[in-house]
Amino acid sequence: MTEKSRWLYETAQRVIPGGVNSPVRAFKSVGGSPRFIQSAFGAYLIDADGNRLIDYIGSWGPMILGHQHSHVLASIQSALTEGVSFGAPNAREVELAMMVTKLTGMEKVRFVSSGTEATMSALRLARAVTGRDYILKFRGNYHGHADGLLVEAGSGLMTNEQKLQARSAPSSAGVPQAYAGLTLVADYNDPEGLAQLLRDRGNTLAAIIFEPVVGNAGVLIPTAEFIDVLHSAKEQGILLIADEVMTGFRLSPGGATERLGLKPDIITWGKIIGGGLPVGAYGASAEIMDFVSPMGPVYQAGTLSGNPLAMAAGIGTLQTLRDNPEIYEKIEDYTERLEQGLLLAAAQAGISVCVNRIGSMLTMFFTEGPVQTYQDAVRSDTRLFAQWFHEMLNRGVYWAPSQFESIFVSAAHNERTLEHTLQAAASAFLTIKSQ
Ligand code: PMP
Repeated sequence: MTEKSRWLYETAQRVIPGGVNSPVRAFKSVGGSPRFIQSAFGAYLIDADGNRLIDYIGSWGPMILGHQHSHVLASIQSALTEGVSFGAPNAREVELAMMVTKLTGMEKVRFVSSGTEATMSALRLARAVTGRDYILKFRGNYHGHADGLLVEAGSGLMTNEQKLQARSAPSSAGVPQAYAGLTLVADYNDPEGLAQLLRDRGNTLAAIIFEPVVGNAGVLIPTAEFIDVLHSAKEQGILLIADEVMTGFRLSPGGATERLGLKPDIITWGKIIGGGLPVGAYGASAEIMDFVSPMGPVYQAGTLSGNPLAMAAGIGTLQTLRDNPEIYEKIEDYTERLEQGLLLAAAQAGISVCVNRIGSMLTMFFTEGPVQTYQDAVRSDTRLFAQWFHEMLNRGVYWAPSQFESIFVSAAHNERTLEHTLQAAASAFLTIKSQ
């Protein structure tokens, strides 16, 4: 039964554009009506009609410990008794900053309220530090909705040389071409293309911003050659910005940077750093961060930045991860078994899929592998994915409602949820095969 969700969706569409406050939630790419969530506990979501669903979204990453984790709740509750916002410095900001710098090796960190703010601010900082205007991003990487980042260059049919001269076309209405033109776009996991771009334009670039493991084209894992070329950009005075909004504190205590041995100059965070409350952050060496106001000339501010409740949720989450490092093994083991089970079930039903997994992030592409680039990913059969998604939902499993997203496993997932998920998957594959 989904009557209440449907009614809420209809009502929501009258007063909120598309009925949602973030587009993917509207189920546009899979069709149908989104579930409105009433509550969540552990690895489960309860929708407005009382249906219990195994949650593989985890609020798109933050809920690495599962919903309503006792230590995180206690941390928020203790902050709550002291007031919800001060607009003045508070000890919790210092505590979280100490934890983040210790875990990640960055010397100073500035808290903001979303991943978008973090990447936007990091780019401003990189431009100020280098005195250059252009930035480079990768096709299919997402860094939030700041104007200069909503950009892809032209169509996938272009050759590399053509790409170099391509106008950077905004991928959203309302982004001025003049501004989008400062963002160059290259292909992820295309080391030759990147090397060529660096030869031609490297000395104009302030920064390369990248997802160290892509989650936003589905999961794409960087190749060693690609990482080498990325690192070579530093020789041209280009700052590397690792956008760890999704991967930070998830792929290891020190994020993808630690796991993959990356050497970024600036890191951006979101999601887990706020434990489910709105927090983003960016960090770098003291030398770079001291460009930020009030120390330096880069203005960046926020009424609710460092909000005590949000800091408390982040502290509770990072403390739990720090004190229980076995969580990383547990969620990786679960996700690996999920990967194996999905591959087996798909093969038994005669459906071609490619599963990309690293740590507790996973995407099952409905295409033959390997899937390394954006172009590989978009070959997926999104119609088949949509059918599978709905079959899973009908069987009580809430997968990410788009082919081009990662799912996120939490410490609350267990043997029972795994078995339920794999049984649902096997049956869903057989059903879509027979349709
Ligand atoms: N960077 C990455 C890698 C992300 O995945 C996201 C959001 N999914 C963002 C930035 C933007 O974060 P937010 O939605 O908090 O603005």
